[in-house]
Amino acid sequence: MDKPMSSTEDRVEDVIIIGTGCSGLTAAIYTSRANLNPLVIEGNLPGGQLTTTSEAENFPGFPEGIDGFLLMDNLRKQATHFGTRFEQGLIDSVDFSSSPYTLKAGDKTYRAKSVIISTGASPRLTGTPGEKELFGGGGVTTCATCDGAFYRDMDVVVIGGGDSACEEALFLTRFCSKVTLIHRRDELRASKIMSDRTLAHPKIEMCWDSVLTEINGVAEKSVSGVIVQNIKTNEFKEILCKGIFVAIGHTPNTKPFSEYITVDEEGYFLPEAGSQVRTNISGVYVSGDCADHVYRQAITAAGMGCQAAIEAERWLAGNE
Ligand code: NAP
Repeated sequence: MDKPMSSTEDRVEDVIIIGTGCSGLTAAIYTSRANLNPLVIEGNLPGGQLTTTSEAENFPGFPEGIDGFLLMDNLRKQATHFGTRFEQGLIDSVDFSSSPYTLKAGDKTYRAKSVIISTGASPRLTGTPGEKELFGGGGVTTCATCDGAFYRDMDVVVIGGGDSACEEALFLTRFCSKVTLIHRRDELRASKIMSDRTLAHPKIEMCWDSVLTEINGVAEKSVSGVIVQNIKTNEFKEILCKGIFVAIGHTPNTKPFSEYITVDEEGYFLPEAGSQVRTNISGVYVSGDCADHVYRQAITAAGMGCQAAIEAERWLAGNE
């Protein structure tokens, strides 16, 4: 006799939202407020990237700025208030070949008429030998907000030249004795306001035109320094440090879906022409950083979540 289906497998949701960053939670607020009773599948980082940011200064409506964690907590409460349901799980495969669509998280199976994918993007690493071994407790990290306080009165380095690298470096000045920002070019990619603040900070030293070639301390399981190469002069030098904060951008979390949904050469979802959120699969929408390599802001991710929710609502109404 066939194994009976579990209640989760039996049930067909109107809409499943994957991800609880700004985009997924905004989609949840809109779809729950539209009485669609959405189920949100929450991955490894509840609240998404903003929970690893110290302060969001540019999210409209908060003239004094707002703590990233608090902002996400507020979005979650707002979604819950309208009836959003949350379940923990990592969607590892999907079947979008026929409707209702099937999503699997380990041995759990979900079915839904429409799906909003807001899986965000994950921090990239440099690939330098020793980086993986020392990631986490060994001194290599991608999150100053999470780990900065462990480096009180110590010297650290930050890798990267974008807004994230500047934000990490500035945050670390609260704890660390010195922050060296290692960037592969001779000018920052970051916005002017962040660049100006970074370059003016007395605790931040710039190491221009340089790439990481080695991490010292692998045998001792604890970072003791880095070797960098100046790509203009080819000279190597050692910078002594206890922590390495890597802030060189992100990789979109699109893999489990890329068999069905078109992605570009960097792996970002490619929406259908004329829409930011509609995909090549009817009733399946994408929103936020997994589908946006241009703007990548909390507010644009939230806006895409809203668009995806309205699209899903209209699509469901047209397909009842
Ligand atoms: P990003 O803007 O893509 O910058 C990545 C940086 O890392 C660039 O400077 C890049 O160098 C460098 N890089 C890339 N690969 C590298 C490698 N293998 N080795 C060494 N360096 C490498 O990424 P982001 O800083 O994470 O920012 C992402 C988006 O979020 C942006 O749109 C940003 O404006 C936004 N953001 C905004 C705020 C804010 O408004 N407060 C805060 C954080 C992020 P090159 O410059 O040479 O390419």
